[in-house]
This record gives sequence, C-alpha cells and structure tokens, in this order.
Amino acid sequence: MTKEQLQQFFVSQGDKSFRGTQVYEWLWGKGAHSFDDMTNISKETRQMLDDNFVINHIRVDQMQRSSDGTIKNAVKLHDDLTVESVLIPTPSRTTACVSSQVGCSLDCKFCATAKLKRMRNLNPDEIYDQVVAIDNESRLYFDKPLSNIVFMGMGEPLMNYNNVLKAIEKITSPEGLGMSPKRITVSTSGVPKMIKKMADEEVKFKLAVSLHSAIDEVRTSIMPFNATFPLNDLREALEYWYAKTKSRITYEYVVWKGINDRRKDVEALVKFAKYVPCKVNLIEYNPIGDDHFKQAPDETTDMYVRELERNGITVTVRRSRGKDIDAACGQLANKS
Ligand code: SAH
Repeated sequence: MTKEQLQQFFVSQGDKSFRGTQVYEWLWGKGAHSFDDMTNISKETRQMLDDNFVINHIRVDQMQRSSDGTIKNAVKLHDDLTVESVLIPTPSRTTACVSSQVGCSLDCKFCATAKLKRMRNLNPDEIYDQVVAIDNESRLYFDKPLSNIVFMGMGEPLMNYNNVLKAIEKITSPEGLGMSPKRITVSTSGVPKMIKKMADEEVKFKLAVSLHSAIDEVRTSIMPFNATFPLNDLREALEYWYAKTKSRITYEYVVWKGINDRRKDVEALVKFAKYVPCKVNLIEYNPIGDDHFKQAPDETTDMYVRELERNGITVTVRRSRGKDIDAACGQLANKS
C-alpha cells in the first residue's frame, strides 16, 4: 500500500492519518517485519493491523560467504519462490547485486539464470527488501552501510521496468534509504525501446549494457534476442540515451575462445564504442558447466585492452568475486 492508502485506512477507522505515516515509516524506513516491532503504536492498534494485514516481506533463507568476503543470499519470497542477491565488499565500497525477476525471459547461452526461464517479475518491495537485507549485512559484517547497487542479479531489469523504477524511487527517497541514484547501475542486455523510455524520463541512475559482441551474427548466436533487437537499434537507443542524459554508458564484455577472440571482433567493438561516450568492462567468464564457452587466454584480453586504449576508450579488466559459492556474474541459479 502507498503512504496515502495507509493514511486513508486509518482515517476510515476513525484514527489520525498520521498513524498511516508512522506505519509507513516502520515498513519502509526501518524494515519492520512484524506489527509488533512498531513500538510507538498502541498494542490494540497493532493487533488490529495484524488481524487485517500481512507484511509480505522477504526472508533470507540461506546466506553463504565466499573466501573473498562476498556474501550470497538465497531469498525466499512469499510464494516460496527463490531469488539470489549478492554483497560484494571492496576496501572502498560495498555493492549490492540484486535480482529483478525470478528466472529470466532472455536466453543468453552463457548465463546460468537463463536456464531457469522467467517465472515472474519481482514486486518493487521485493527488490527493495533485497537491498535492505544487504545493507543490514554490510553494517553487520563490514561496519559500514551499503554504498552502491547494481541490477546485475537474476532477470532483465528492463523487462520489469515499472517495478524496478518504483524500487529505485524508494531506495533513493529520504523516506527509504536516501541513496544517491548516481550509485545505482541498471544493467540490461539491451532493450532499445526501454532504453529510450528511460532517457525520456530522465532517470538519474547509470546504465550498463551487456554487449559481448559488436557483430550481429556473433551476438545473435550467443544472445538470441539480438535477432529481434539488432545492434543498429541498440546503437540508436544508446545515442538517444546519451543525448538526453549525458551519462556515460558501461559495456560489459566477456572474451571467449573461438567466439569473439578475433581481430575483427576487437575492431567491431572499438567502432561500436566510439558511437557514444562509454567505458568497457572486460569481465571474466564464470563457467556454468557448458563446454561451448571458455574464457580466452590473457593475451587475447590484452589485445582488447591495447586496441581500446589506443583508440582512447577507457577499459577495465574486472576479476570475478564469489566464484567459490556460485555468486559471480551469470552463476545465479538457485543451486543451493
Ligand atoms: N539481464 C541483465 C542483468 C544481468 S547482469 C543484463 O544482461 O545485463 C549479469 C551480467 O553478467 C551481464 O553482463 C551478463 O552478460 C553477465 N554474465 C552472464 N553470464 C555470465 C557468465 N557465465 N560469466 C560472466 N558473466 C556473465
């Protein structure tokens, strides 16, 4: 329920609308899981709330810790489905990697989540609650609040756009967690229509695109939906995004042996990366038990770095975190 709905409910009960604000703050500001926690509300009122409502909060069913400090939460939803979210600590920041869907509707060949198929979209509160759970863990284990959020868990955020946006509104609002949108990154495999919509709405968070190839034929072979949303449409949408937001795009890119390790793959990426101000993140491949995909050797990654840098494009090589607990990119599949 919105704050207004809660206020109206209390007024309809002959109480003050202020009571609705209090309940709302308990739910969203303090993450209360039970009406009994709401100590500034009378016992009778709490009982009345308990008789009339349920709090559909998520429950961290299982928490695993990696040898590198990464934490993975298996999160049970009210209908018994599970999603995963990850806390990635570094000396300077702690990042939450959250899920937006149960499973995924896309079919990227190299991703474990894709094998689950999409079961349903997460509600805004289910997304928000994952962040709250990780924020609590960050305070508990690392003595500091969460600093960044990436929508790089399970699901395609732009296929659940409205709920993701509502969750981000709550995360950034002073009544929620009051986080700056600049510390939030939404990662998409590239849905041109939705990228344009976000640009029109002048959203303030950052955009990352899982590119993996700048050649249509190759990209379609590993990300089949590219046949529907080819690179030209993606390019056009990204140009539109940059014109409206002036916000630099991050491309995520894995280099695989025998798939995108040729010179012409590098050249195509260099060309694509020049369309819109961007940076390229070369990410490590995390095996998902499929022999078709193998990380290219370091020399190939070096060739990518050299060529991108020679062309004035910012490039970083990112090592995976949490591999030993299947918490790394593309490994989220509710295995344990
Ligand atoms: N659907 C969104 C959000 C998922 S983000 C998107 O595609 O961007 C997860 C990131 O991990 C994406 O960049 C994805 O391409 C990448 N990824 C998927 N499987 C991977 C794997 N096995 N190893 C490394 N990265 C992978």
